Amino acid sequence: MKRHFFSAALTSGALLSAAMFSAPAMAQEQKFITIGTGGQTGVYYVVGQSVCRMVNRVKEANIKCNAPSTGGSVANVNGLKSGELDMGVVQSDVAYRAYNGEDNFDQPFEELRSVFAMHGEPLTILARADAGIESFDDLKGKRVNVGNPGSGQRATMEVLMDAKGWSMDDYSLASELTAAEMASALADNNIDAMAYVVGHPNGSIQEATTTVESNLVPITGEEVDKLVEEYPYYTKSTISGGLYKGNDEDTETFGVAATLLTDANTNADVVYTTVKAVFDNFDRFKRLHPAFSTLEPEQMVSEGLTAPLHEGAERYYKERGWIE
Ligand code: GLU
Repeated sequence: MKRHFFSAALTSGALLSAAMFSAPAMAQEQKFITIGTGGQTGVYYVVGQSVCRMVNRVKEANIKCNAPSTGGSVANVNGLKSGELDMGVVQSDVAYRAYNGEDNFDQPFEELRSVFAMHGEPLTILARADAGIESFDDLKGKRVNVGNPGSGQRATMEVLMDAKGWSMDDYSLASELTAAEMASALADNNIDAMAYVVGHPNGSIQEATTTVESNLVPITGEEVDKLVEEYPYYTKSTISGGLYKGNDEDTETFGVAATLLTDANTNADVVYTTVKAVFDNFDRFKRLHPAFSTLEPEQMVSEGLTAPLHEGAERYYKERGWIE
């Protein structure tokens, strides 16, 4: 144990000094960008890795892009605010609240900017078959993973619970495991159900459904209808049957869009290069994850965006004639 800790400390120390040596020497020509994602078994991680892969291929731009795993949407907004991240993948509902300073966010984040929208993300509840959970209301009294505090699922769960007048005490256990931890917790019978706002198919739900008999839970009813009616960023959504073992029927729920965001202070040429790298090679980009297969560029730059476009992105979209 001790030895393990020592080697981890050594590694991060080595990385730190490598960064200290290389950054000033290369700052002139090379630019570094960091994109915040989510857990490694989700789709955000692949979004970040895929965008970076496209950007890093543009040799003459000399941008070094990396996309580490993070706590999710809320953590990514906070990373943009603090300057730790240059871009981040964020749910459209979280982006809206961050920009306007609502709920989790005390102050409007006026510098928040959109780059483009990505795939749809339904609120997804997966329950162990032996827990007998057939609807959202059946979660009462159960052990439910409501998500780590920096995650988008935690934020969206809180919105729905609020609408229903629920508190965390309505569950026998409200656990806060991260996205990467919850599939094994479900399989190990440490929780009865997990909540995830995520594109499909994804590694986490795949892992859970192949290791334990489990069912996707429909999320419908008057509170959901009201949320969809009231907020433009919530839409009814369906998780197609047949994507996961033991889940052959469609599941009705509601959801948001994943969006790539940045800050108004991010260099416009860097943002321009990023969107150009993605959209000039869009067929290649789309093949990097099955959840990207239905993406359409013109929709991605005009729908689901709750913060204004960054000027670097806008420049490219105008050139392509996608926006006025
Ligand atoms: N929507 C989740 C969040 O905001 C992340 C989903 C994913 O990683 O694909 O935390």
